[in-house]
This record gives sequence, structure tokens and C-alpha cells, in this order.
Amino acid sequence: MKLLMPRERLRRITEITPAWLAERGLEGVVADLDNTLVPYGAAPPPPAELAAWREALAAGGVPLAIVSNAKPGRIRTWAAALKAPGSSFAAKPLPWCLRRMIARLGLAPARVAVVGDQLFTDVLAANLVGAYAVLVDPLEPKRGLPHTRWVRGLEGWLLSRYFPKKGVHDRKAEGR
Ligand SMILES: [Mg+2]
Repeated sequence: MKLLMPRERLRRITEITPAWLAERGLEGVVADLDNTLVPYGAAPPPPAELAAWREALAAGGVPLAIVSNAKPGRIRTWAAALKAPGSSFAAKPLPWCLRRMIARLGLAPARVAVVGDQLFTDVLAANLVGAYAVLVDPLEPKRGLPHTRWVRGLEGWLLSRYFPKKGVHDRKAEGR
């Protein structure tokens, strides 16, 4: 069960700043694309908030890479738009593609935040390579194939049972 649990949960990937990373001894970010960086199926240009976030990482000297199970064409487009290396057809939760990308950044896995919206692909792959797994809320939770929605139900149950501490994620703590 430990392999399925993130180290932290956040609402949005844009909550990850160079200072946040430094506090945790992290030096790089490898992000999932769909429902983590952008809504599923969205095309560039990136929304202003995402573009600003990407610039802030660059300004802080933090490398960013994209590792996605999506098709190559889509990943190439977004990798160019976000000025980050991208890896498609990654077959997460299999660890090889993710491991190769982390090596390409020149960082040890333990120094990298691997960020995604799904336990059974993103978080599991992150834990298998020994990276710092961060789970974010999916940008569009309601959309998705019936299979994905079923898996989200299971993820919700597992998280409520094994990951009760929500930290920044906790909406009540934010007074909402
Ligand atoms: Mg995703």
C-alpha cells in the first residue's frame, strides 16, 4: 500500500514553488500532463497561471520535464510550449521512462518531485523510482472515461483510508 501513497497532496501543481522544493531538499520537477498541468485534451498556449509558474521555476533554476502516457504528437507540442523535455507513451506505472527522464535532468530520483493526478500511474511510478511523489487534484475530475471514473472512486477510498492527512489540500483548513 505504501507504493500507492503520495508523500504529499496539493490541489494544484502551481502550488509547487522553488522555495517549496528547497524546503524539501528537491531540485527538479517531473510532471504528468493531462489533468495535472492542463485539462485533458487541452491545446497550447498554456493558461497565464501555468506560464507564470513555468517561468518562476526557470527563474529559480528548477528543471521541469513532462512524462506522460499520452501520444507523442501531443507531448511534443506541450513540451515545446512549456520549454521542457517531454516523454510520451511512458507506460506509467512502469518506471523505466520516468527513470530515464530523471537521469536526463542530471538529478538523483530522491531530489525530484514527480507530480500527477493518479495513484495507479503517477504516484506508483514515482515511488517505484524512489522520487518524491506528489498527488494533485485532477483539473477536470468529472470528465474521463467510465474506467477512469471508476478508478477515481477507488483512489478516493484508498486516500481517505490510508492518507487522512491532507495538509494544503484540506479545504476546511482554508476556510472554504
Ligand atoms: Mg493525468
